[in-house]
Amino acid sequence: MVSCSNFWRSTQVNRKLVGIQDNILPHNSMPGPNQKRVYMFAEGRIDQKELLGNKGANLCEMSRLGLPVPPGFVITTTTCLDFFEAKKKMPLGLKEEYLTALAQVEKQAGKKFGDKSNPLLLSVRSGAAVSMPGMMDTVLSLGLNDEIVAALVESTGNKKWAFDCYRRLIQMYQNVVLGKSTDPYEEVIKKMKVAKGYKYDMQMSGEDWEEVVRQFKGLGEALPTDPHEQLETAIAAVFNSWFTPRAVRYREYNNIQGLLGTACNVQTMVFGNKSADSGTGVAFTRNPATGENVFFGEYLEQAQGEDVVSGVRTPHSLAFLQQHMPEAYQELDKYQRLLETHFRDMQDLEFSVEDRKLYMLQTRTGKRTAKASVQIAVDMVAEGMITEQEALLRIDPERMNYFLHPTVDTKAPKTVLGKGLPASPGAATGAVVFSPEVAETMVKGDPNVKLILVRTETTADDIHGMRAATGIVTENGGMTSHAAVVARGMGKCCVAGAHTLHVDVEGKQFITKDGTVIKEGDVITLDGATGLVLLGDVPRMPPGADACFQTLMGWAHKHSRLAVAANADSPEDARVALSYGATGIGLCRTEHMFFPPERIDIMREMILAETEKERQKALDRLFAFQKADMRAMFEVMTGKHVTIRLLDPPLHEFLPTNHHDAEALAARIGKPVETVLREISDLKEANPMLGFRGCRLTIKFPEITLMQVRAIIMAAVEARAGGAVVHPEIMIPLVATSTELEVIVPLVEAEIRKIFAESGGITVPYRLGTMVEVPRACLTAEKIAPFVSFISFGTNDLTQMTWGFSRDDVSHFLPQYLEKKVIHADPFVSIDEEGVGQLIKMTTDKMKTQKNGGSFTAGICGEHGGDPASVAFFSRAGLDYPHNQPSKRSLQKRKAKEMKSRSRVSQLHHLPSQAIHGKAVDTRIFHSRRREAKTNYLNSQLMVSLARKKSQRSHFFFSTIQSENDFCFQKGNHERALKDKDKHQLCQEQGQQN
Ligand code: ADP
Ligand code: MG
Ligand code: MG
Repeated sequence: MVSCSNFWRSTQVNRKLVGIQDNILPHNSMPGPNQKRVYMFAEGRIDQKELLGNKGANLCEMSRLGLPVPPGFVITTTTCLDFFEAKKKMPLGLKEEYLTALAQVEKQAGKKFGDKSNPLLLSVRSGAAVSMPGMMDTVLSLGLNDEIVAALVESTGNKKWAFDCYRRLIQMYQNVVLGKSTDPYEEVIKKMKVAKGYKYDMQMSGEDWEEVVRQFKGLGEALPTDPHEQLETAIAAVFNSWFTPRAVRYREYNNIQGLLGTACNVQTMVFGNKSADSGTGVAFTRNPATGENVFFGEYLEQAQGEDVVSGVRTPHSLAFLQQHMPEAYQELDKYQRLLETHFRDMQDLEFSVEDRKLYMLQTRTGKRTAKASVQIAVDMVAEGMITEQEALLRIDPERMNYFLHPTVDTKAPKTVLGKGLPASPGAATGAVVFSPEVAETMVKGDPNVKLILVRTETTADDIHGMRAATGIVTENGGMTSHAAVVARGMGKCCVAGAHTLHVDVEGKQFITKDGTVIKEGDVITLDGATGLVLLGDVPRMPPGADACFQTLMGWAHKHSRLAVAANADSPEDARVALSYGATGIGLCRTEHMFFPPERIDIMREMILAETEKERQKALDRLFAFQKADMRAMFEVMTGKHVTIRLLDPPLHEFLPTNHHDAEALAARIGKPVETVLREISDLKEANPMLGFRGCRLTIKFPEITLMQVRAIIMAAVEARAGGAVVHPEIMIPLVATSTELEVIVPLVEAEIRKIFAESGGITVPYRLGTMVEVPRACLTAEKIAPFVSFISFGTNDLTQMTWGFSRDDVSHFLPQYLEKKVIHADPFVSIDEEGVGQLIKMTTDKMKTQKNGGSFTAGICGEHGGDPASVAFFSRAGLDYPHNQPSKRSLQKRKAKEMKSRSRVSQLHHLPSQAIHGKAVDTRIFHSRRREAKTNYLNSQLMVSLARKKSQRSHFFFSTIQSENDFCFQKGNHERALKDKDKHQLCQEQGQQN
């Protein structure tokens, strides 16, 4: 294809403008009547990005630094707003103002716009406050007409160049200003090249281009002959490009709000297409794919800007420029160093060379891969360019996933069977299996066998199968469904709620939307990053062990205010958490200790016991397991706190669900099958999540709780006797009223006193606390406060109960809620600040007031601990309040101590949260509340990174493989990425496309 053509085709959009949207145009920012609308490059300042746009402000800054920027001026973003307010008319006085500026440009350039003997040609470029690469429009080489082009040929003797510029202008004008397709124009060029036997545009002669221009004139609306009319209409077109559908969509996807519009940069043209000693290029001050500190770029000789990205001719590396025009290269190298040092970040540059003279056309912060972002941040700290905190703030926690999980090779060919929620990251390939029992048996037979467990949904009964599998797919369920939560806990890849798959467990097959039948034993691959279910063994890429990432994590620990505790249910989990720097265990779910096969039956015996004696017998056996596990846990966590939640789930979760399993169980434990079945049916609940669980179990069966307390405290005593430093914290789940605690707390305390009395003088410091997860507990926080030394918000349950949304069923309607903007984010992913958040804040405030001066702590445990926006909220909500440790130290020392938070966010799993949230934080930083947002953001980074690290169980590998999605070098790619995905999907795809 000819140069330019691909690009212009790719930017072909329906140019019909969408209406002004109130939500993105704040009216209070209207400029006054005497507002300055036009800034010369020499006038603008770098801190005026909102007014001058990112491109404009940077052009001003480069000019101010003395770099060779072709002279020009910027029309402000507020003018764009006025333009739309005035129903797309040039605001009053604008023309006079820009003509005055143009006169100055003419003076600087030594040429005159519209002049026949020495014409100035202009580019008119868009550029908003936030860089939106390739989303808006630019017109080049304005100011030509038949007469001027003839004069230009005359004065320069360069007909080829003059007519190349002219035909480009006609094409661009047609497309950008008139909104017409350039296909017929490309056709003319193509025919000409075929006729002449040329491969590249470059080979066209002056006469050829002249002929092309002649033929262009027969195609539709003509370019205005008056250069000033060209200019005015081009400025309007640039403003209009603010509302092209792709620009609107881009802002929506990236949650860019509150901008006024695009600025318009009017600039003297320079010509990379002028001669063999001319060309154009793009460069990055460091490698944007790897982060390596080497100047990196591409150069295309005899070409204008867009020819480089259009990909029609393969550009050369910068070495080509260095070889052919060493002076220009040296100069460019000097400027790239200068710009990077000046802006203190990796820069993305546009430049052109006209007859061996270098011009700088653009600089901006360069987009980069996740890997490069970490490498560059860490390198820049080492170079003394930025601080550790700044390095942390530059990292997008959403993208740190790259370092932690294997990923599906983006380049590999794929057959998509279905799509669900990316519930647990990573990638898994294996043979499909529908029964947990079969999965377990197969893995016992061959530990190396790789299986994907496919279920309609999972329950506690399926744990062994999930453990045996390498990946899990469910037809139903959301991001916090059983399958999702457990899979994340196990660090296994999971796709949940793949509604288009019809899973037939009995028939041992699933059927896709298009009727493909996948049977047991067929191999499939799960992509935990996108939620795709793929046919066959799609190649995966291992995660990389990245020294820079480790360094960065070290800084995150160092600078954090919130403490991060891990979820861990076993000594092994605890060990992993510790190795990742967890400050303690924030949630140890005791029920998980009862799930292993040799224990579950004892648990079942306990539940099925018909007499108290029988129950006690089972409890005594469970006690031994529980105590051994707890002791090992305390030993691993010596010196750190371990928060243990008492039994929480409904008891029927431990019982079999079908007749066959019930029979088998009855046989194993020597009970009549009728008894087992009766108990199962007795315990059946219509809505188990609102049923017989949590502390309600204690009220009915105190002996279960006493067994647990005894196991925990005796384990602590034994561990202490063995030399460990123990800090057990017992947490009572699902409390709704202080009267529950009035019953339970004395019971627990009496048991602990008894143990201490038996232990021959050994005691351990312990604390009692409660989960706050029932709205009633929030409403009555001041009554609950006297019973507890700490609280932990169970944000999953609290969200569920506050909204009345069952988290296991929410996937049936949540997509529609999001699509219709009834709600803006999944409340199970990102905390609902307005509702649930209010409860959290209120409770924390009440408790703190009540507990004034104590060692009270408030934390959260729940999936929200992995979501940056939520963590930022928790920080604001006061969970990071320093509490007043009674201290004899000086005030200063105490102050310093108070800076360190005692709050804990306990979070084991990574939750791939919506891309949009990470962005929301960005926007906040951009606009206002800078400092506050930054501090919180810093915390979120730590939190999320750590949470994610925790879920990474396998060893690290070194890898330099990049995900293709990760990085868009070409504008075209970027645009395509946006077009191809519908919004809801995009929300769920972890921001990989940015
Ligand atoms: P985008 O934001 O899409 O990159 P630009 O405004 O940067 O749009 O312009 C599009 C292309 O035109 C770029 O390659 C740029 O380098 C080139 N260009 C812009 N202004 C000039 C100019 N004054 N002289 C030469 N080339 C230019
Ligand atoms: Mg550009
Ligand atoms: Mg809960």
